[in-house]
Amino acid sequence: MEKILDKKRIDDWIAALTDWEVLAPALQDGIWTYKPVSGAARLDHPNTRQSPKELTFPQREIFFSFEQIKGEPPKLTQILPKETRHVVFGVRSCDGKGVPRMDKVFTDHVEDTYYTTRRKNVAYVGLACNKPPSSTCFCLSVGGSPVSTDGLDVQMTDLGDRYFVKAITETGKALMKAAGSLLAEAAAADQKQVKQVHADAVAYPQRKINDPDGAPAKLKASFNSPLWDEMARACIGCGICTFLCPTCHCFDINDEVQSKAPLKGQRVRTWDNCQFPDFTMHSSGHNPRENTGARLRQRVNHKFQYFHENFGMHQCTGCGRCVSECPVGIDIVAVVNKVTENVG
Ligand code: SF4
Ligand code: SF4
Repeated sequence: MEKILDKKRIDDWIAALTDWEVLAPALQDGIWTYKPVSGAARLDHPNTRQSPKELTFPQREIFFSFEQIKGEPPKLTQILPKETRHVVFGVRSCDGKGVPRMDKVFTDHVEDTYYTTRRKNVAYVGLACNKPPSSTCFCLSVGGSPVSTDGLDVQMTDLGDRYFVKAITETGKALMKAAGSLLAEAAAADQKQVKQVHADAVAYPQRKINDPDGAPAKLKASFNSPLWDEMARACIGCGICTFLCPTCHCFDINDEVQSKAPLKGQRVRTWDNCQFPDFTMHSSGHNPRENTGARLRQRVNHKFQYFHENFGMHQCTGCGRCVSECPVGIDIVAVVNKVTENVG
């Protein structure tokens, strides 16, 4: 299903999606972020500071509450996510690519019902990048593209005064059907223009991982390289790189006690971070990744070696957020290229 939408009618389409809570990029305090749409939706964003992963994998979520009253069996009450249907507009291709990667992690061996309950209720309406929105983008190096449709339900392409709108999944078709007569048939000239826009987007220069296919083996061979310590020296362990990443998914689980008599509280999952010094700290006090070099190596190897070994794809989608937002300028592209450059 391929249609044309007059740009001025995007709000009418969103208003027609009455079964969905709609989110779109919004500029707040100078930062692009996904917000529930109120008023006119803007799709002229570069990329959002955070990826949309929080909709399926929230930064903090309660699994269950517990209560132990003396003389009675413990009471556990599971708290499953609300089944609210969300549709996110303006998702860039790199963040779309993040979706199947998160799906693999949370469904491949064991189904995480907290994730899958949310996931089945989220749809993604992508916006192709007519040119890479940031100088830190490198999607082409990691099997992506500025116009990839992976992970998306609908892809929109900006054709100036109108959008070319293409359904990718059945959910996408339903979203487009809800627009009714707002969507017009795409003419041959529209098809021609969208092809050209996509070809230009792919031809636009980007940063490069020099040997992405060879990276898994080369990183494996470089495990003991002194370059890890050298390149990680400035890291302050803030964790921005992984919190903003569309594919980072490590978490911690804690019991938060609200009262001791009677014992009452809740089990909570929160994002965790391999760049934090205590991420691998043992209760004995021993830490197998005790310095920043070991922690940077873990982040990079997870993205370009371990995930590749497990799932046959890089865990990085080339969004460039960890590069643009690291406060001390640690650059994953430069790190991979430097560590692997002299490995045969
Ligand atoms: S964003 Fe930079 S400084 Fe912060 S943890 Fe990541 S690499 Fe270290
Ligand atoms: S590792 Fe960095 S560039 Fe790659 S997907 Fe994550 S945040 Fe984006």
